[in-house]
Amino acid sequence: MRQVMVAGNWKMNGSSESVKELMTGILDGMASVTKAEVVVCPPAVYLSRVCGAADGSAIKVGSQNICDQDKGAFTGEISADMLKDVGCEYAIIGHSERRALYGESDELVARRFAAARRNGIKPIFCIGETLEERESGVTNDVCSRQIDAVIALEGVEALADGVIAYEPVWAIGTGKVATPEQAQDVHAFIRGKIADLNADVAEGLRILYGGSMNAGNAKELIGQQDIDGGLIGGASLKAEDFLAICQAAE
Ligand code: PEP
Repeated sequence: MRQVMVAGNWKMNGSSESVKELMTGILDGMASVTKAEVVVCPPAVYLSRVCGAADGSAIKVGSQNICDQDKGAFTGEISADMLKDVGCEYAIIGHSERRALYGESDELVARRFAAARRNGIKPIFCIGETLEERESGVTNDVCSRQIDAVIALEGVEALADGVIAYEPVWAIGTGKVATPEQAQDVHAFIRGKIADLNADVAEGLRILYGGSMNAGNAKELIGQQDIDGGLIGGASLKAEDFLAICQAAE
């Protein structure tokens, strides 16, 4: 049985004050969340204090990226060991904004994935197609290619107990959510693709949906057979909205 996961991607939002307020709000509401695994992914500069605030609670903390190298002259990057040192358990890897705005290739994303795993950080591995790709009918091909880069480097076993976030790029931050059927189709494709290689890995793999998920649409999306939770951007910035999604996921 896969545990449902709700992860908040705060992106480049917040201040010392607002991060404190958001964490207080989420912590206050956590008593009503009993089944979902809840993860928050603040900007890197706030990771330490968010880990401190989350300490002793059920909330887990993730970074929004991770270096593909372990140590040394990589200005601006943050290593898996550093993330572990401050208390992170997860790292978002391959978010479409990193891929599109900062030129992260499938291969670099796969190397980041590998670095996370070999150092004990759990990847939340993001994949998804652009609107143009969807309209050209290549959604599954794109997702396949992105997953294959990780499998080529690490083998399918690297996805055992893993987390993939299917995030159609056209749905991210646009308010244009995929229909439950559209999302389920891609999730089923992803699980089927992995199952062809290793049925046990496919069974344990959690596949989150991301893209304009909110309190109003979360229940129906997460109710789909192959949707095991959500990666939430905009709606994770208000404790009330985020908690409502966590509750809907239960
Ligand atoms: C995201 O950036 O991962 C995301 C899903 O954003 P939003 O929920 O705002 O569409």
